[in-house]
Amino acid sequence: MTKDEVLTIVLKSASLPTLPTVACKLISISSQEGIGMKEIASLVSKDAALSAKVLKIANSAFYNFPIKISTIHQAASRIGLNAIRSLVLSISFFSMKAKNNKDGFNYEKFWEQSLSGAVAAKLIMAEIDKSNLDEIFVVGLLQNIGELILALSFSDQYEQVLLETSKGEKDVVVLEDQIVGADHTFIGYEVAKYWGFPTQLLTPIQYHHCPEDYKGNDNKLKRTINVVYLSGIITNILYSNKPQKYHQIFLNESKSMLGFDDKIIGKILDLVVSEIAHTADLFGFYIKNQKPVEEILQEANEALLNINLTYDHVNRELIDATVQLQQLTKELEENNKRLEKLTLLDSLTEVYNHGCFQSILENQVSIAARKNLILSLLMVDVDYFKSFNDNYGHQAGDFILKELCKLMKKSLRDYDMLFRYGGEEFAIILPEITGQEAQIVAEKLRESIAMHTFIINNKKYNVTVSIGLAEIEPAVCAFTKNDLINFADKALFESKDKGRNKVTLYGKKNI
Ligand code: GH3
Ligand code: MG
Ligand code: MG
Repeated sequence: MTKDEVLTIVLKSASLPTLPTVACKLISISSQEGIGMKEIASLVSKDAALSAKVLKIANSAFYNFPIKISTIHQAASRIGLNAIRSLVLSISFFSMKAKNNKDGFNYEKFWEQSLSGAVAAKLIMAEIDKSNLDEIFVVGLLQNIGELILALSFSDQYEQVLLETSKGEKDVVVLEDQIVGADHTFIGYEVAKYWGFPTQLLTPIQYHHCPEDYKGNDNKLKRTINVVYLSGIITNILYSNKPQKYHQIFLNESKSMLGFDDKIIGKILDLVVSEIAHTADLFGFYIKNQKPVEEILQEANEALLNINLTYDHVNRELIDATVQLQQLTKELEENNKRLEKLTLLDSLTEVYNHGCFQSILENQVSIAARKNLILSLLMVDVDYFKSFNDNYGHQAGDFILKELCKLMKKSLRDYDMLFRYGGEEFAIILPEITGQEAQIVAEKLRESIAMHTFIINNKKYNVTVSIGLAEIEPAVCAFTKNDLINFADKALFESKDKGRNKVTLYGKKNI
């Protein structure tokens, strides 16, 4: 909806509040020249309830007259036309309700905050110019009249606006534009114009959220706009959930706009809450005990401190948990690696186990067949190992098996693979190595083992191994994995048969 469409709906709305007749007339006649006090006074006097309220206020500390004022005529001549008009308007404002009265609008809250704007505006203006405090009071009071009007005409949308505003992230004006289609400064200004308000009331209503947008040359009016804007900031210190933010804004803006120093600012903020309570009393409504600004700010600071403390605490816990998680992950990774090794490795010798040998050999044989590559397999068996165990004990035998594997690994290339085939028998896959080349490897292996002295508890031991080997030459004939194992086994058997500590190549003349 456009701004103008919203305005049309507002002006036609059955919910549009009405100004009491006296206020309406007063606004229109007081702007005409040549109207005397007498006419004004008699107009106000016609409304008994209104007159009583005006007299009550005229006799209060609000004006501080030394003698009692008993008639509206007296009041008019004492406090002046503008003051009477402001008073009537203010009183009318507090009696303004929607026609249908079925709305759920919180008038008390709205009036209290409007009153805060009025009192704050008056206190601020009192520091600059005391000549027309009645007018600034009423401007401060009416600045947000557009909020009331929007809330009554667009109650559902406005509820949403208030909800979003309370989150404190977006300005109310932005939210009104987004959710309703027009903001309260525009609507307030237009409706007040429709009611016949004079310019010195209208312009501040229009610019009280963005005083920098006023481009006119009237310095007095500009000052009024700034004061009203600042009064709105004070209201936010008192009633929003971000008091510190608005306090800071007030400090900065009141210094830059009006040249206030800390002393003046302190004085205004000290006075504002008690002044609101007094003034509410004068206008005949009760407001619950409002905390002084200092207390509000202190509580907000404490809340912030608590939030920070909680944040620190949560943060620390998070760091601890992260560290713990990292440790756990590391441990888990290590465990997984260990587990993986466990399933692949032989636990005693830490070389690949039998299962692993079967699948890798299968794989290697098929690669060799597909790519026409040579592959050799060695079977290594410790000689007379039963006797070794019998003579020196099983533990010494275990030690020999472990040391033997280390020794064999040292003699092999990186891509050769050593497996524990079972017991004291080992298998070695030598990819892309011919039988003859493998025979040389095997011979070196056999010799290095035979030459090696194993030392256990300062005692020296020697063992020998017998080796059988077979090769695959896919180009010559087709082999399966089991063929290769069988052939290597047969060659090993031959080595044993020839007296052990020998190397035999399957199908070739033995060496
Ligand atoms: P050969 O020269 O014919 O191979 O004689 P051998 O005694 O080595 O062969 P045999 O097959 O008769 O015996 C193998 C022995 O290896 C029997 C067993 O006690 C020993 N052995 C097998 N596995 C282990 C092991 O893990 N640790 C120890 N200490 N000994 C083992
Ligand atoms: Mg043996
Ligand atoms: Mg054996």
